[in-house]
Amino acid sequence: RPLFCASVLDHVTLHVAQLAEIKQQTTSSELSAFCCLFVRCCKTKRPLVMQAPIILLKEGTDTSQGKPQIISNINACEVVVDAVSSTLGPRGLDKLIVDGHGEWRSIYHGAVRQQGKTTISNDGATIMKLLDIVHPAAKTLVDISLSQDAEVGDGTTSVVLLAGEILKCCKTFVEDNVHPQILVRGLRKVALLSIARIKEIAVHVKREDVKEMDDLLKKCAATALSSKVIARQKDFFSQMVVDAVRHLDELLPLNMIGIKKVKGGSLEESRLIDGVGFKKTFSYAGFEMQRKKYTQPKIALLNIELELKAEKENAELRIDNVEEYQKVVDAEWAILYDKLEKIVDSGAKVVLSKLPIGDVATQYFADRDVFCAGRVPDDDLRRTIQACGGAIQTSVSSLSDTVLGTCQLFQEEQIGGDRFNIFTGCPEAKTCTIILRGGAEQFIEETERSLHDAIMIVRRTIKNDAIVAGGGAIEMELSKYLRDYSKTVAGKEQLIIAAVAEAMEVIPRQLCDNAGFDSMNILNRLRQKHAEGGKWFGVDIMNEDVADNFDACVWEPAMVKINAITGATEAAALILSVDETIKNPKSGANDPPPALPGRGRGRPM
Ligand code: ADP
Ligand code: MG
Repeated sequence: RPLFCASVLDHVTLHVAQLAEIKQQTTSSELSAFCCLFVRCCKTKRPLVMQAPIILLKEGTDTSQGKPQIISNINACEVVVDAVSSTLGPRGLDKLIVDGHGEWRSIYHGAVRQQGKTTISNDGATIMKLLDIVHPAAKTLVDISLSQDAEVGDGTTSVVLLAGEILKCCKTFVEDNVHPQILVRGLRKVALLSIARIKEIAVHVKREDVKEMDDLLKKCAATALSSKVIARQKDFFSQMVVDAVRHLDELLPLNMIGIKKVKGGSLEESRLIDGVGFKKTFSYAGFEMQRKKYTQPKIALLNIELELKAEKENAELRIDNVEEYQKVVDAEWAILYDKLEKIVDSGAKVVLSKLPIGDVATQYFADRDVFCAGRVPDDDLRRTIQACGGAIQTSVSSLSDTVLGTCQLFQEEQIGGDRFNIFTGCPEAKTCTIILRGGAEQFIEETERSLHDAIMIVRRTIKNDAIVAGGGAIEMELSKYLRDYSKTVAGKEQLIIAAVAEAMEVIPRQLCDNAGFDSMNILNRLRQKHAEGGKWFGVDIMNEDVADNFDACVWEPAMVKINAITGATEAAALILSVDETIKNPKSGANDPPPALPGRGRGRPM
């Protein structure tokens, strides 16, 4: 208080010892406390001026920082890893994810209550995407999983597991006050060493030998598929995937492989079509009279409605006798017939349109031996153009050969409960379509995702033909290599590299755990094999044993592993170098309201 301050400051000239004496003699407790403070200040030579706190952040801002923050981030990542670890490998289990979000939204907007969408999946990237993680640090793991998916297509669970395990082993170092930068440097070194080692031991096959290459591609696809729902049909599907990718041109554009799903039938009834295929959406009267098969037809691709307009349109006509009305009707027919005539004259044998092709037009075409299909979805029409050539026309006035597409064979076929228009032998682009059959919708969707993984793997392997053995073999080899290397360096780096070496063992360990094997026993035997120089020894999932997985043909592209290790170490380094999270009170504003709105807020009665 100013009064007390003043009375103390009177004594400023006094010796500190004297001041201490005053402190003891005075009866006022506040004065005594102030003297105390003053004496301490004089002793430490700190100025007595008290600084007002500097306000930098808005009130309500939540900051947490330092070591506890790093550890809490690591803990969050461990929880995410727990969520996906049980899906790894051929014996991994699937996850069923219900999207409750859709349900909530529909109630909120007063619409019909919808059932949330359910997804059954084994794919790391899909699960991570659907988990809707909000923790800022744990989101990094989602990102690396998605980037692995985009980059190589497979290994999306492995990358998350590796990152989590690396972070776990770094946690002890953080707790022991090792500076995060030292850890980050160690991790970078580990990534470089591992990649160099993979490149060193990866096996290359002769690209020129088409049969050998196809064999290799099939095996890589089979390994990717062996951990999916369609594992039992992996030979069937790996052949299909390799054939599909072989259909493409050098750039291997992914969108040239169409995947169509037809419910019903068995998985083995799925088939690969060398060309474009799409579902017929609508049939008009007269359609059954049309021919369903043409060789080398000309194909007209239109965006024109070929239908008689009903009178409901908004034009108003005043007519006072029947003849006038007849003229109007005749004119409309004349316009339509004119269009139809031009199309038929152009020589097109197959007419596709984005817009409806009505009864009259269908019968007209049927009489003149022309096939037609209306309401073709946009993306299917686009794929047809890219495959068969031609261009979409919005008028019939210039239907020349240059805008008409063509193909070797067109036919309409019944597949399951749907009719498919199928174009094969397409001249322009190399395309193919996979038609998937199967029971439940979720099952077909997961099959599609699995095929996507396998297709990506095959594309990758064609571009980069180095392969390594899977089933934990390459991870065990890296672990041994890093452990040996760590003995040649000194200091903290040695401990970090040795710890990451141990973290690499998470993949074989999890493969064993998911299969219900005794992981300790198997890992010990694997370590022994690798120490003896058996670099491709990994887990034998079929026989609860260890086996040379290169001989067992569990092959994976080296790119999958290189990408996974880079992604995992980068993510771990990123999480370790964040030591402060600042949460702005506003950042929660986008969160959905916690409860349903009450009365009077637009809810329907
Ligand atoms: P990811 O999303 O990471 O690809 P998966 O569930 O597909 O996860 O599991 C991949 C792991 O399973 C890889 O480490 C791979 O080596 C291993 N794996 C695949 N097939 C076999 C097999 N037949 N025997 C042993 N391990 C296998
Ligand atoms: Mg996989």
